[in-house]
Amino acid sequence: MLQTPYYLLKEEKLEENLKLLEYIQEQSGAKILLALKGFAFTSSFDLVSKYLQGCCASGLYEAKLAYEEFKKEVHTYSPAFKENEIDEILSISNHIIFNSFNQWQKYKEKALKADVSIGLRINPEVSASPKEIYNPCGLNSRLGITKKEFKPELLREVDGFHFHALCEQGSDELELVLNAFEKNFGEYLHELKWINFGGGHHITKDGYHVKKLIKLIKDFKNKYDVKVYLEPGEAVGWESGVLVAKVLDIVDNGMQIAILDTSAEAHMPDTIIMPYRSEVEGAKKAGVNPYTYQLAGNTCLAGDIMGNYSFKSPLKIGDEIIFKDQIHYTIVKNTTFNGIKLPNLVIERKDGTKELVKEFGYEEYKRRV
Ligand SMILES: *Cc1c(COP(=O)(O)O)cnc(C)c1O
Repeated sequence: MLQTPYYLLKEEKLEENLKLLEYIQEQSGAKILLALKGFAFTSSFDLVSKYLQGCCASGLYEAKLAYEEFKKEVHTYSPAFKENEIDEILSISNHIIFNSFNQWQKYKEKALKADVSIGLRINPEVSASPKEIYNPCGLNSRLGITKKEFKPELLREVDGFHFHALCEQGSDELELVLNAFEKNFGEYLHELKWINFGGGHHITKDGYHVKKLIKLIKDFKNKYDVKVYLEPGEAVGWESGVLVAKVLDIVDNGMQIAILDTSAEAHMPDTIIMPYRSEVEGAKKAGVNPYTYQLAGNTCLAGDIMGNYSFKSPLKIGDEIIFKDQIHYTIVKNTTFNGIKLPNLVIERKDGTKELVKEFGYEEYKRRV
């Protein structure tokens, strides 16, 4: 028996996402990287690395994980690189992307000596991000070089530009960003070898306009004669698995409240930060089915609540509660807040067998506090 709570990654679902990404690579000629920020389930890398070209990392640790575990291309960007880390980063990265001309000049000598392709992150200053916290092009953003700060005289050894402006968005929004990017920086693009379109492309979501993405990439590649990279995180892990928890107790305070052996705060952080409401298998919105419960976490944070859900029959202590689509941006963000146990990691293989690949315990909590 698997001990709850655990994340269950479904290999078949993950591979469906990867096959779509592979199709886009084939049709458009773009190279697609995995953004570790959103999905770093290392036990699945054997599968992911069959389809994607490498990883995009945001600093030394992600770069090392990419280098050691994914073993393909490593593209490293950081808002600011540290002096005591830059040598190692340069030694394991295929691309390095600087966030400012300051950083580029500071590490120029080292970067030119390393076997690495050099890029700059550009802020296209256009985006339609759903929430300000996820908007890299918002007011006073530190992420990327704006047109005002741009210094064309320092481009000589630069091979590529990178932008990241989207969050869970479609190809229409990408087109808007590309238009602004070309308008402000188009005159420099012919001299470059590559352009990285960043992440935030909601490619694997139903209804995403894949054909339009392919056309945008192809047209862009032809116009400027550059390689194009995409680096989605969420789209790789999208709907590829669930978080399985158990009902520990049911109390009543104006309504029935089920206390689970998981935590919204620690194990499903975006449900609180974004915020959004996770779907629960077999449950509907409050009041739709006859038995409504508040589902809540096993911590002392009053607001550690997943939401109100209704079920066809009454919940019992020991019942499993399955939160859908909980693989991306969860495992990489989990905490041991309040001493709560990190969920174990389980993979459901294509033949249906479930394999426990990582087990967490008291040590994770103790080492960190
Ligand atoms: C977060 C991030 C990504 C991945 O974004 P998704 O929304 O998960 O696709 C890619 N590149 C950069 C620079 C990022 O910050």
